[in-house]
Amino acid sequence: MTAVGVVEVLVLVAVILVIAVGVAVAFLAPSRRRRTSAPEPGPGAATDVLAPPPEAPPKAPEAPAEAPAPEAPEAPAPALERPEDRAGRLVRLRERLSRSQGTLGRGLLSLLSRERVDEDTWEEIEDTLLTADLGVAPTQELVDRLRTRLRVEGSAAAPVRDVLREELLALLDPSLDRELAVDRQEGRPAVVLVVGVNGTGKTTTVGKLARALVADDKHVVLGAADTFRAAASEQLTTWGERVGVSTVRGPEGSDPASVAFEAVRTGAEQEADVVIVDTAGRLQNKAGLMDELGKVKRVVERHGPVSEVLLVLDATTGQNGMIQARVFREAVDVTGIVLTKLDGSAKGGIVVAVQRELGVPVKLVGLGEGADDLAPFDPEAFVDALLGA
Ligand code: GDP
Repeated sequence: MTAVGVVEVLVLVAVILVIAVGVAVAFLAPSRRRRTSAPEPGPGAATDVLAPPPEAPPKAPEAPAEAPAPEAPEAPAPALERPEDRAGRLVRLRERLSRSQGTLGRGLLSLLSRERVDEDTWEEIEDTLLTADLGVAPTQELVDRLRTRLRVEGSAAAPVRDVLREELLALLDPSLDRELAVDRQEGRPAVVLVVGVNGTGKTTTVGKLARALVADDKHVVLGAADTFRAAASEQLTTWGERVGVSTVRGPEGSDPASVAFEAVRTGAEQEADVVIVDTAGRLQNKAGLMDELGKVKRVVERHGPVSEVLLVLDATTGQNGMIQARVFREAVDVTGIVLTKLDGSAKGGIVVAVQRELGVPVKLVGLGEGADDLAPFDPEAFVDALLGA
């Protein structure tokens, strides 16, 4: 190849190279631009489960760096209930008492107000009293006294209603001390043991009593020593929680005496006014129940004397209640009776019968399923409710 031919070839190669570089630059430049630009989020990007979690959004520029993190909202504490105050409760329950017991009093009054109270009428009066569960001896006593007074004094001296009121009141023995021992004594909380057969309303009564005491500004601690029924501990804890009262409980089947002991210890530690202990009431095994109650009482007494032993009886069970009363009297020194479900029975005579049987006063009466349906037993109010005063 001549020198001129070599030059021509070199020029041609150079031109081809220049063109090739130009084409390459033209093609490569846009693709590099695409690779450096931020990818546009596709419509499906947010739901892509395989996509890495999106980064936290940048902080708002105006937020100071050291600003405290917002607090996690706390679960709202359950609002405490306000138990009904004593005065309102008593007025309301007195009306209820006269609804359930009024028939008895009005029945007696209309029989005694007959123009001639003959033997048949006295028999009717006796039947009315017996049907109201007054018991044979108190019925006889009342009829004898009424007969004598009406014969001697005559209805002119005092209205029949007043005579009946006085005699009914005498049967209830208004001189008995019905105050509940629920105040601290010698630097220790009062201790109230609540005993009775299952189903009488024992646990409910403990709950209602706690509320009534809270309404009177007392500091109460509950002991769930009915450890045989898991539901009983649960039930009692709920009663307490509603009014800010703590409940000491043990695992199901644990030793009731140790739960009772612990409850009293906790009450002392908290400087409570009163510790109320709910106990088990399985009457199927009488000896076992009595041993257990005796043990609960003895163990609790290591802290100091028990202030009250309240026996809960269901007013609707009549003679059955009387049998229970005898059984419990053998096991523990009952200091007061709680008659429940008096709203569901017109047999108010049971108040007299059971007081006589045990020789201890009825201190409280249950008058409904409502949380505040428990009242101190007041003989005068009771007789007035009977007679529809
Ligand atoms: P316990 O097994 O003796 O502890 O009995 P509970 O306290 O569980 O009560 C048994 C049932 O009696 C429940 O349905 C209570 O609501 C009901 N009860 C308790 N006291 C009264 C009351 O004074 N009147 C009425 N009508 N029912 C009551």
